[in-house]
Amino acid sequence: MIPVNTPVLVGNEKKYLAECIDSGWISSEGPFIERFESALASYVDRKHAIAVSNGSAALEVALAALKIGPGDEVIVPTFTIISCVSAIVRAGAIPVLVDCNDDDWNMSSSEIESVITDKTRAIMMIHIYGLPADVDSILAIANRHNLFVIEDAAEMLGQTYMDKPCGSFGDISTFSFYPNKLVTTGEGGMVLTNDDNLAERCRLLMNLCFQPNKRFVHEELGWNFRMSNMQAAVGLAQFENIDISIRKKRETGQIYQQLLADIEGVVLALPKNNFATNIYWVFGIVINNSTINKTAQDVMAMMSEQKIGTRPFFWPMHEQPVFTNSGIFNDKKYPVAERIARQGLYIPSGLGITESEQHQVASALKQILN
Ligand SMILES: *Cc1c(COP(=O)(O)O)cnc(C)c1O
Repeated sequence: MIPVNTPVLVGNEKKYLAECIDSGWISSEGPFIERFESALASYVDRKHAIAVSNGSAALEVALAALKIGPGDEVIVPTFTIISCVSAIVRAGAIPVLVDCNDDDWNMSSSEIESVITDKTRAIMMIHIYGLPADVDSILAIANRHNLFVIEDAAEMLGQTYMDKPCGSFGDISTFSFYPNKLVTTGEGGMVLTNDDNLAERCRLLMNLCFQPNKRFVHEELGWNFRMSNMQAAVGLAQFENIDISIRKKRETGQIYQQLLADIEGVVLALPKNNFATNIYWVFGIVINNSTINKTAQDVMAMMSEQKIGTRPFFWPMHEQPVFTNSGIFNDKKYPVAERIARQGLYIPSGLGITESEQHQVASALKQILN
């Protein structure tokens, strides 16, 4: 079996974990938290970093820190993970969707202004699958309309936008350290900002809003979204190898580009857009259903028979039963997201993949599609 993702834990992970156990610092009060936070903050050029329990929690904290709530609208691409829209809905706010680009699958910045209303408070800018979103255009729109920007850079640690780090933009940015991300802590996430006040609010909100002076007196409701010292220990060790991981991701992507160059009826992940070369968080492909009479689901089933793991693309937010049942998206259509959701999948592209596995994946795919 070639799994869709295999993490690589070959650095100081064991050593740092042993330090946690030997010292007894296993909760969120331990020295690795601060070391991991400051490593990330300086890497993505932000003043503050707050470690949390996962990337979805990071988004919830970001929205709460910005005081986004009932009556507010937040613009978000329909082609994304549930975490983004779930955080908006749980904050009591209204997600307002835009479609994605046909080429890099990122949110379509040209559609944003047409959905701004007097209730719009923020844009959730998400970088998808390996190429950065149209950051400057989105920041300019936000500026013009006085909106907050929440940058979800979960898939993009190590990627840049015009040579500036992803995660350095927006009022607040977030990362995830799930095992398929460039740095993993098993489960984990991070909230980053340059704003002292927002950073303080994030620290309170992710820690049950315990107050520094009156610990058990609460002005607001927060969450226990703390990361443990053990997770941060793994994260720091992972981070020490980030350059190797970035190189490996790009190499994996280039190898697939070569192996699959002559495959017909399939659009491969774009090698670069106007802002960066692809970091190939995952290697996505979209099957052209006018030349190949198969959906992504068909291809995934056939790959699975050959013991190769794949994942479907995101399913658009406006087609999620949990939302269509409540009617919040008014049956609006987003044709690009609808098509790539049905025709798109990604092939094994984790950090642990070998070149010979990539050859196996490519020949299986060619056999299935030709
Ligand atoms: C992975 C991911 C998340 C969620 O992170 P978790 O740590 O799994 O909660 C959020 N946003 C994007 C874009 C992601 O890829």
